[in-house]
Amino acid sequence: MSNPNRPERRTFAIISHPDAGKTTLTEKLLLFGGAIHLAGEVKARGANRRARSDWMKIEQQRGISVTSSVMTFERGGVTFNLLDTPGHEDFSEDTYRTLTAVDSAVMVIDAARGIEAQTRKLFEVCRLRSVPIITFVNKVDREGREPFALLDEIADALALDVAPMSWPVGMGGTFEGIYDLARDRLHRPAADATGAFEGDSVQLSGLDDAKLEPLVSADGLAHLREEAELAMAGYASFDEAAYRHGDLTPVYFGSALKDFGVEQLIDALAQFAPSPRPQPAEPREVDPDEDQVAGFIFKVQANMNPQHRDRVAFMRMCSGKFRRGMKLAQVGTGKTIAVHSPILFFAQNRELADEAFPGDIIGIPNHGTLRVGDTLTEGEALRFTGLPNFAPEILRRIRLADPTKTKQLRNALNDMAEEGIMQVFHPSIGSQWIVGVVGQLQLDVLISRLQAEYKVDASFEPSPWETARWISADDPKALDEFVGLHRGAMAEDRDGAPVFMAKDGWEINYIAGRHPAVRFTATKDRR
Ligand code: GDP
Repeated sequence: MSNPNRPERRTFAIISHPDAGKTTLTEKLLLFGGAIHLAGEVKARGANRRARSDWMKIEQQRGISVTSSVMTFERGGVTFNLLDTPGHEDFSEDTYRTLTAVDSAVMVIDAARGIEAQTRKLFEVCRLRSVPIITFVNKVDREGREPFALLDEIADALALDVAPMSWPVGMGGTFEGIYDLARDRLHRPAADATGAFEGDSVQLSGLDDAKLEPLVSADGLAHLREEAELAMAGYASFDEAAYRHGDLTPVYFGSALKDFGVEQLIDALAQFAPSPRPQPAEPREVDPDEDQVAGFIFKVQANMNPQHRDRVAFMRMCSGKFRRGMKLAQVGTGKTIAVHSPILFFAQNRELADEAFPGDIIGIPNHGTLRVGDTLTEGEALRFTGLPNFAPEILRRIRLADPTKTKQLRNALNDMAEEGIMQVFHPSIGSQWIVGVVGQLQLDVLISRLQAEYKVDASFEPSPWETARWISADDPKALDEFVGLHRGAMAEDRDGAPVFMAKDGWEINYIAGRHPAVRFTATKDRR
């Protein structure tokens, strides 16, 4: 699978619901991975929690926050690229689209809460591309749900086979460690464990090994033996092909806070997670072993400082070997971009690194030339596919303070839609544009960028709709008929494609059920 001429990469993202422990796990991955000589800083909370000194310098110079976009660590000769999926308030289409730039994902679940809303949404995006998923059930050091209940919930809610790879010995007050089912090792906490892993790890010959007896309480051991046996008999055993197809998820139990299961997770990523695979493109697939550089832009980050029009475009490398100073062609526009000062997200000496390989991410500073969905090559006219727009989850009418600025507003909205941070819809009835986003914060970002960059004062008004679907049909008559019936809820996106707007997903399902000849889709390929 991997090629000796190409360094090993694992490019992945963490999907989770806020508070499940993504930040804590990220910090621990970086610590275990040896990328961070800054343990003190990593532990810092608040504004400093993600501070990494060398990135800060770039950020100050450019006024662009790239700190947490890509985090890289190394272990055992493998380089891991962890792409941030912004959650919390900064949830946006970027969060979804980042998942199109990874080869696999880690799903973090809070043992007390199980599958939550945001995890499920992000999971659905992974499923669109059959992204393989490793599950980490976090916080077993606290009271949580029964492991069986959690496994069943993952299997039922996500329609996935689950393969338990480890088993907790007790949870919460009775937590005594984690048993690695595949390797027959017991990991135990130190009596006074606080930060880094201070416990021990004992090799055993199996669950029946008498050496286990002095290591855990009699109760704990009886439970472990019984449960682990039931689990191994009752759930699928790990099957690498099924995992790679996105049909099965290996499940690890652990505690990011107490450093349990983190090492096993890294090992699992190294051992099972796919290295960069051929990427779908037109007119042909692109293989990572090709000599020439090709990649796509999956995210563009604008400057927070209105004095600078700088942006950083994030390119996922799909093939070839990138060297600082290389000239890359923006396919479709004929423009050539000399990449003199790329941001290369490497563990050591990030700023000085000057080579990148398939699976790596390069940050390319530019003045707005590069857009989400762009393909960059050494000249070949290729276009990577599968970088969609996602159906908005918040729709607002936009109101202009000064009606003479209509043209500026139109240009600004077009620009930002091109950038991929929001979408703009023109309703069939009425003249006010409708803006669609997937996260609330994008609305504030939009208003302040309209003012700062385009000198346009605008505000939002509620709209009767919250979500939208692109519609199509094989029979044009069926489409016309549908549009005629629902004119009040119809709009066009900026490419002129018809969009049906609705109050919620329930309404969409209801209407879709009554119009079987019409397709309702929640994603649309960008151009
Ligand atoms: P995020 O919102 O997913 O990034 O979650 P954080 O990493 O910020 O964690 C949310 C809260 O859960 C914080 O108070 C963490 O200290 C706590 N937490 C994270 N992992 C664990 C764990 O393994 N055990 C316990 N007891 N708490 C945890």
